[in-house]
Amino acid sequence: MPPVFRFAPSPNGYLHLGHAYSALLNFDLARRAGGRFLLRIEDIDATRCRPEFEAAIYEDLAWLGIAWETPVRRQSEHFARYREAVELLSAMGLVYPSFESRAEIARMVADREATAPWPRDPDGAPLYPGAAQSLPAAERSRLIGQGIPYALRLDMEAARARANQLTWVEHGEGPHGETGVIRAQPEAWGDVILARKETPTSYHLSVVIDDALQGVTDVVRGRDLFWSTSVHRVLQFLLGIPEPAYRHHRLIEDASGEKLSKSTQATGLRELRGRGVTPSEVRRFVGLSDDLRNTTGGC
Ligand code: GLU
Repeated sequence: MPPVFRFAPSPNGYLHLGHAYSALLNFDLARRAGGRFLLRIEDIDATRCRPEFEAAIYEDLAWLGIAWETPVRRQSEHFARYREAVELLSAMGLVYPSFESRAEIARMVADREATAPWPRDPDGAPLYPGAAQSLPAAERSRLIGQGIPYALRLDMEAARARANQLTWVEHGEGPHGETGVIRAQPEAWGDVILARKETPTSYHLSVVIDDALQGVTDVVRGRDLFWSTSVHRVLQFLLGIPEPAYRHHRLIEDASGEKLSKSTQATGLRELRGRGVTPSEVRRFVGLSDDLRNTTGGC
């Protein structure tokens, strides 16, 4: 079976050089290996994703010379599938609803931090500080019945207790040069959100389900997602789905050494195109050779 690669942008802004690098690297690796290249639109966040950004993704990738298989999977069309997975995990006793608003959570963390530092996840966000897990079932039903918004969280301790030590094979590098067999550390994320009342999935859940459903064998993505793989491995284990190989690549930075953001006009592909920059120049700028045989991606 040929290997399957994918590029999975969220249409919440215009693509920049960082996306170009990731997309071209996946495309080159797929071609070099005689594999398949898929494009997936990760549009679960209806408040931030916009049709004009999605249209721009197709336009910018085509301009770069990238070709993808159709139909393109759009996550917003598959909410029922993600809901089923949440139900499966709930039936395993691994999911509970929490009812605090973001502001309440921020206050709880601030209160605790008045005495001692509160643990943060690898992205720097505080771990869930609430006690919703011990709410009696009747109270949960009452709050849901009242229409209070909630988040469905994975009971990470119970999830980990089911899995032996999980690992993944890293062909690229983590933020501190981690490579080879990596020990997953899902506990660093606490009780992650799997779904919300208004959005029946989350990044972590839909990415592992889609990679499995689409037969993705090689996940090649930015190093900023390296430690998210710990959560992905737990979900893959619990849902009984295969483990792809991972290759986390370097991030393209701006002149001050910061990761590019979607609002950075200077490095937007549309801006560059408008200024007469060619796709070959983009390739060279992000460190990719025009000669496919040289694609190592510098991971
Ligand atoms: N949709 C994610 C992003 O735009 C990428 C997901 C992934 O590659 O796993 O950052």
